[in-house]
Amino acid sequence: SSAATVPQLPKRKLGNTGLEVSVMGFGASPLGGSFGPVDEAGAIAAVHAAFAAGVNFFDTSPYYGATRSETLLGKALKDLPRDQIVLATKVGRYGLNVEDFDFSAARVTASVHDSLERLQTDRLDLVYCHDVEFGDLDQVVNEALPALAALKAQGLVRHVGISGLPLGAFRYVLDKAPPGAVEVVLSYCHLCLNDTSLQQLLPYLEAKGVGVVAASALSMGMLTKAGPPEWHPAPPALRAAAAEAAALAESRGQRIEALGLRFAFKQPGVATTLVGMTTPDMVTQNVDAVLAALGIKKPAAADGEAAAANGEAAAADAAADAV
Ligand code: NAD
Repeated sequence: SSAATVPQLPKRKLGNTGLEVSVMGFGASPLGGSFGPVDEAGAIAAVHAAFAAGVNFFDTSPYYGATRSETLLGKALKDLPRDQIVLATKVGRYGLNVEDFDFSAARVTASVHDSLERLQTDRLDLVYCHDVEFGDLDQVVNEALPALAALKAQGLVRHVGISGLPLGAFRYVLDKAPPGAVEVVLSYCHLCLNDTSLQQLLPYLEAKGVGVVAASALSMGMLTKAGPPEWHPAPPALRAAAAEAAALAESRGQRIEALGLRFAFKQPGVATTLVGMTTPDMVTQNVDAVLAALGIKKPAAADGEAAAANGEAAAADAAADAV
């Protein structure tokens, strides 16, 4: 079918930022190579396919693949209209170890300038302090956030957020930072088939006027047939349960990836959910799964196909319940 008849992913407001982001965002962490080898042409085609399906939100970090993700995403985005893209990157995390975190004002400022260069752009729509719990939270509040506010005043950064795993770290920073200093929170692995703990924090975040980005709908690859990467933090029992769920889904003619996305995209209360993708095929599959989760029908031109898809959706709901 032609591009005009392909249903586009809807967009939602991201907190009070004024940004409108697609319900599924493109997670560029796997472009760094940490989930397996990445074919550069395929990755660029994935970014372009996502944009064609209505994805306007792209998420990266200098940490992903030691800057490779940013460089590759910058290359891919060069071919797209910059003013229709919401581009997010991060500061403060540059490696695996404690000494690879630096939320000092000087490093944060230098990091933004380096990211602008790699991403081949003159402004970053959103910059998060990356994985704040590994840094000094008071340094995040007293140095990183003021440095990002200064970059905002210069027009180099449009909006500021924080990311991390433990939900308590968000409360700590948000309760200490001046109002408006943190506009967005990125939480990962807490709104997926095996963990919905982010739901408990949503009322607090809403009261603070903070936009919420949920990341890792597939639990950082754990809810995939291929399974999680070696470095994934899940304990053996959880890995085994996820593998069992994937096998059960397959035995019922379903893909665990599609079921995981259906579950994640039916969760209320978040503006957008990031999914890491490296090929156009993954993009197509995932866009279909998200449209199905949201109850958005295929184009009327393909009536037979739409009816078939709706039948599949009912079967998928039954399988998701079983998993
Ligand atoms: P994810 O749960 O989105 O899973 C990504 C994995 O799933 C990759 O290996 C990918 O190849 C695979 N996958 C995706 N679609 C598939 C399909 N249809 N079939 C088979 N496999 C498929 O995990 P993620 O990438 O870590 O999270 C999404 C994004 O959120 C990241 O890329 C990153 O941008 C962001 N994120 C940020 C933080 C943070 O700030 N601390 C943490 C985690 C994620």
